[in-house]
Order: sequence, then C-alpha cells, then structure tokens
Amino acid sequence: MILITSILATGSQANSLPDLGSPDLVEYDTQTEKELGRAFTSTLHTHYNLYSDLETNAYIRELGHKLASHTGNNRNYSFYIINDTSINAFAGPDGVIGIHTGLINATETEDELAAVIAHEISHVTQNHLSRRYEYSSTQGSLNSIASLIAAILIGMHDPSAGMATLMGGMGYNLQQQLKNSRLHESEADAIGIDLLHKSGYNPHAMGDFFGRLAKASQLDTFQVPEILRTHPVSENRLAEAENRAQNLSMVQKDKPESYLSYIKMRLKKDQSSLLEYNPQKITQNKSEACYQKTLESINTKKRVPNCIKNENDKPQSLPLFTTALIESYTTSNKKLSSQELEYLDKLVEFKLELHPNNPSIPIRYSRYLEQAGEIEKAIKILKNAESKLTYRYSLYKTLAELYAQTKQESYVYLNLAKAYLEIGSVERSEYFTKRTKETIKDNNNTIKHEITLLENKLNKLLKNKDKSTDE
Ligand SMILES: [Zn+2]
Repeated sequence: MILITSILATGSQANSLPDLGSPDLVEYDTQTEKELGRAFTSTLHTHYNLYSDLETNAYIRELGHKLASHTGNNRNYSFYIINDTSINAFAGPDGVIGIHTGLINATETEDELAAVIAHEISHVTQNHLSRRYEYSSTQGSLNSIASLIAAILIGMHDPSAGMATLMGGMGYNLQQQLKNSRLHESEADAIGIDLLHKSGYNPHAMGDFFGRLAKASQLDTFQVPEILRTHPVSENRLAEAENRAQNLSMVQKDKPESYLSYIKMRLKKDQSSLLEYNPQKITQNKSEACYQKTLESINTKKRVPNCIKNENDKPQSLPLFTTALIESYTTSNKKLSSQELEYLDKLVEFKLELHPNNPSIPIRYSRYLEQAGEIEKAIKILKNAESKLTYRYSLYKTLAELYAQTKQESYVYLNLAKAYLEIGSVERSEYFTKRTKETIKDNNNTIKHEITLLENKLNKLLKNKDKSTDE
C-alpha cells in the first residue's frame, strides 16, 4: 500500500534490510492464498469501478509484468486499475496488484510509476500481506473475507463510513492487521529500489515520488493522499531510499521509450476534462500532439486526422497509435475504401505479430468490424487472439456481445462463462455454463468440448473453495 502520513521517525537504521524474519513464515498456505486471490479478483470486478480502458490496461500490465520478471521468483502477478482519483496503490492476496487512476495521474515520469509498482510487487515477494494477516483468526466465508480485504486496501478512509463501524469487531481487527508496518514499508522500498534498477529504471524515483507527495501534502493537510496514509513517509525512510539508490551503479540499461504521456492523455479524455486541457502548459513533441489531436477527434466523432496515419507508417510506432487510428475510424463512422480497408487489415496483422499479448489491438479492430457490419470477421479476429493473451476478460465479453448479434445464444453464454471464470467469479461462470448446455441446438461437438473444459476447471476451483472454507 502507498499512503503518506507525515510522521517523523526517530533513530537511524543501517542501510540494510530490516530484519523481519523469513518471508516464508506466512500465516496461510498457498492454496488458501490462491483462493483468496481468486475471490479478491472477483470482488474487484463486481464491487469496484475498474478502469477498463484497453490501452491503459495494456500499458500498466506491460510495465508491471516487466518489473515482476526481474524479481527472480515465479509467482503469479496480475494488475488492475481502479477508477478512483485518490492517489493509491495496493498489493492484495496472491499477487493481485491494484493501481488507482489518481496515482497514474500523480506520477511525473514512468520511473516514478514503476517505483510505486515495484514497491507493491515487493510487498508480494516478501509475503507482507499474509504475514500481517491472521487468516485463522478471521471468521466468515472466503468471499466475505476477500471483500473486507478489498474494502480496506482500496481505502475507506472516510471516517463516517469506516470499516470498523461498518463491519464491527472483525472488520476492525482486520483493518489493524492490514496496516502496513513501517518495517514492511522500508523493506518494500529497499527491494523495490533494487528491482527498479534491475529493470533499467531510475532507482532514485522511489524517494523522489514519495518525497514530493509528502511535501505537497504538508502544504495541504486536508488532502493527504491515500498512499501516504498506508505508507507513512518519514525523513528516515526517504534518507534510506536515497542511500540505497546512491549505492547502485549508475549504469542504466536500455530503457524502452516511455509512453506515460499518452496514457495520461487517455485518462484526461475519459475524465472529459480534455477541453480544459491547455497545451501551452506542456511541451509536446510532434507524436504527442498528433495523439492528442486524434483523441479529440474520437471524442467529438470528427474526421480522422492525417497525422495519425503517418504515425502508423513509422516502422516502430507504438500499438496505441494503431488502436487510435482504428478507434477514430470507428467513431467517425467513415466508410473506408477498399484500399484503406486493405491497409488497415495489413497494419493490424503486422501489429498483432509484434504485440501478440496486447488485447487492445484485436478488440479495437473487432469493434470497428462490428460497426462495419462484418461480425463474422470480428469474431474470427478475437478467436485467433484468444490463446495468445494473458488477460482475456474483455475479449470474452466482446465475443459474447458479437454472438448476441449473430443470435448464437449458446456461444453468448459460453463466452460469458469464460469471462467470469477469468476473473474468478465461480458462481456466475457456473450459471452461464449451465445456460450454455441448455441452449445447444444441434449436435455441436466443438461447443460440447469447450463445456467439458470449463466444467473441469470449475470443479477444481469449487473443490478448493470448499476446502478453504472448511478450515
Ligand atoms: Zn507499501
């Protein structure tokens, strides 16, 4: 978690990791952690306002998994964005990491954003959550415990609706347990700074970001960012972070081009403050100015600017230029010439080969095709992408919508069952699997095979779920 309260710590600590005992001393086993992670993911999707923008999610996930790949352990990580202007991030059970849109907005560089994500990843590698939280002493079903954890982590700091009053004694106990200790914070900083450095980011960014937030919040005490509440920033903590970063070699690895500036434009677009946006305040390069212009054309459903086509002609253009072009074709309702269609087809094919794990390309293209009345082709594009993606929830939801238009009822249900399984909503997935079975018309072996696969996965999850609830 990342809140900053301005607490001045006393005493000095050596520039080494605080002794917290072995990270293996966890309060619950892997099976329970997996089950909690599943229920937590389901809660995030059903009770919170997740930010579903395809490009922003692709960006955060790429950044998150890149950092996680340098941890040296092969744990599961998944990254979700909460549509919430408070500056916050958290690490939930089983490597589920949440980033608030407010945090993305508050970071000035990709290094700072990477710093916060690296800090959260380090809470996971060190098992901080499971070490703080006494699972055995908490009563209630797994789902209700997961909901409570989510409510606490995502931040219900409004005193009138505090968890303690809302949930009674158990909520209060859990809230006390989940408070990040200062030792955990400094450990997550230290490991996070090393992770930043290993991944080619500026190791000073951790101290810079927390320091800047803490300073800003001292000027405006009514606006203490959530992240500072859960992540007390002390002078000592900042000094430690600075020391640690100093000691790392300055040799920087090749860093990929940062595209945080584009992502921030997307956030602005969705918060419909684009019109208040004053380009004079920010120096933009040509590509950024073009992206801005394209987003405006999408917002106002106006015609596609020529510059976005030129951007796509550059050999290493970012995938978000391709999806911006597709999106502006979709919203402008432009009827494409056969030449333009051929160009778009080739562009998408090329980009899919370069970025097979980026769901924004096939999904945006399928929406364009849907609007152009080419539903079958839209379905085909998504089905081809399915096996290459790590995050498939949006893909299955889009497929369900497309099948609804072709009136293939059982395929609508099948894809909803798959979508809910993706986010750990076992009961909903079970329901839609049943509906799929009930609506199969002819002797369709392909769909029967898919149902068997789904049922096997569901049975396994249900078995584990019963086990954890019994404990
Ligand atoms: Zn933290």
